[in-house]
Amino acid sequence: MIKVALNGYGTIGKRVANAIMLQPDMKLIGIAKTSPNYEAFVAQKMGINIYVPQESIKSFDEAGIKVAGNIEDMIRETDIVVDATPNGVGAQYKELYQKFGKNAIFQGGEKANVADVSFSSLCNYNDAIGKKYIRVVSCNTTALLRTICTLNKLSKVEKVRATIVRRAADPKEVKKGPINALVPDPASVPSHHAKDVNTVLKDLDIITMAVIAPTTYMHMHLLNVTLKSQVSKEDVINQFLNTNRFLLVRGKSKVNSTAEIIEVARDLGRIRNDIPEVVIFEDSIYTKGNEVFLMYAVHQESIVVPENIDAIRASLNLASAEDSIKITNTSLNIGK
Ligand code: NAD
Repeated sequence: MIKVALNGYGTIGKRVANAIMLQPDMKLIGIAKTSPNYEAFVAQKMGINIYVPQESIKSFDEAGIKVAGNIEDMIRETDIVVDATPNGVGAQYKELYQKFGKNAIFQGGEKANVADVSFSSLCNYNDAIGKKYIRVVSCNTTALLRTICTLNKLSKVEKVRATIVRRAADPKEVKKGPINALVPDPASVPSHHAKDVNTVLKDLDIITMAVIAPTTYMHMHLLNVTLKSQVSKEDVINQFLNTNRFLLVRGKSKVNSTAEIIEVARDLGRIRNDIPEVVIFEDSIYTKGNEVFLMYAVHQESIVVPENIDAIRASLNLASAEDSIKITNTSLNIGK
């Protein structure tokens, strides 16, 4: 059992913490919180050890939250840290991880140079084996990379053009917008997502454009991929059906929107209605010669969770890509 600590228990952190607790080869030793808010109360209710900055111990005590120690105690005790603190904060913590000689997994909000490698399970697991610092790319980039690397197994991907419709905020975020506008993100092209894909697939010809939409449920990607050879719609469907971490939905089933996808997740009793799989609208798959067109939805709050778990195994060289992906999928019920 390897010991894992979670620093930054927010949208991504709480989900990764849950996932760690479900792994047969990992033990969550605790989480770090800076404020005694509702997330700290819920963690306490779940029996998770809570570590806090030394100067905050008193405020947690006063709020009735039992503290296991300070953040340095947590880092000292663990084998590896998953850092899911807000954008840029992870880079500040890196010094502490280095001080104690601990491996760390960072998130996509950090600059790529925070880590030795940017990571996507289906694209470059082997490049990350034994790496001390790994950055799991953002939600949009994770979806793009999963999709591109899966199509690449069918026929070499030569060119990608993608339009990203981004959710404006996560459901818990009360201060973000827009609530009544579509906002180019940014108005210039390409958006940063293409550059982020190139942190993993260095030579890929990819251009992305993005727009922010007033929704909290999911992102949507409209993708046009040029392959080296001609493929059929059936080839593409089978490729996704045979690859973990994708779900295909058909118009016939009346799942035609992100709202209905989330409703299915609720009906299935999935924790927090999470959908770590990329959800492809099967009817949108269209091929013309070497070109493939498709649309899919991305649950931003949970898509990077399995990649974080795989990144832990890669960093500590605990399993091959195939084995890690299998253990992660089984433990998290992915694709079911
Ligand atoms: P969040 O704000 O929901 O969570 C961050 C947590 O870190 C909060 O609980 C906050 O209290 C805590 N925190 C703040 N400062 C801290 C500190 N100094 N020490 C310890 N904890 C601290 O953020 P998030 O959405 O979970 O994002 C975390 C990372 O994941 C970012 O890099 C982000 O870009 C990336 N990411 C986010 C999403 C998403 O859709 N939310 C998707 C993929 C990747």
